[in-house]
Amino acid sequence: SDVGSQKDRVVTEEEWLERWEMGNIGFHKEQGHPLLQKYLDVLLNGRSGLRIFFPLCGKAVEMKWLADMGHSVVGVEVSEQAVKEFFSEHSLPYCEEPVSEISGAKMFQSTSGNISLYCCSIYDLSSSIVGKFDGVWDRGALVAVNPCDRQRYVSLMINLMEKNSSYLLVTVSYDPNKHKGPPFYVPESEIKSLFG
Ligand code: SAH
Repeated sequence: SDVGSQKDRVVTEEEWLERWEMGNIGFHKEQGHPLLQKYLDVLLNGRSGLRIFFPLCGKAVEMKWLADMGHSVVGVEVSEQAVKEFFSEHSLPYCEEPVSEISGAKMFQSTSGNISLYCCSIYDLSSSIVGKFDGVWDRGALVAVNPCDRQRYVSLMINLMEKNSSYLLVTVSYDPNKHKGPPFYVPESEIKSLFG
């Protein structure tokens, strides 16, 4: 298959914000993702009280699931609307504060303290700001990243991982000539070369 057809495609942050404003969010799964249930054991690997990262989190309900299981969840999402909808749709009280290291960024934290959502671009984050993680749920994240930014995205993710962390990655398989994306088609061979 010819992945070249998507190589130069760029979706801007403004376009993502507009999708949220228009309610054009077909990617959001109200019921949560069955693959997280299926592979939860792989993610947790017998551990409890993990720090779990949700890159490009949207308002993924899986953040609530994992927090309810006693884990601490950190997400990053460029749309403030998405972040606010997450808290309001789960009736979770939260507070918001500026992130001193990132100009214009805000962090929204559940009052109980176990869910922290950064409203900024993922490329503004680093381990000195958010720490490192024991697990990552990457659904609609790597596949939503612009193809030209994949290497940068993966380098950051590797940097945010603790030594024994686990990473669940959901991709989609389809003919990239028939759909311009996102979600983009990321072939398995590329995943192997990106993550090493
Ligand atoms: N993972 C979520 C959302 C997937 S859609 C889910 O499973 O439902 C991708 C999301 O990434 C969108 O909500 C979009 O607003 C956000 N996004 C796109 N580029 C981003 C960036 N550079 N930094 C942070 N969030 C971004």
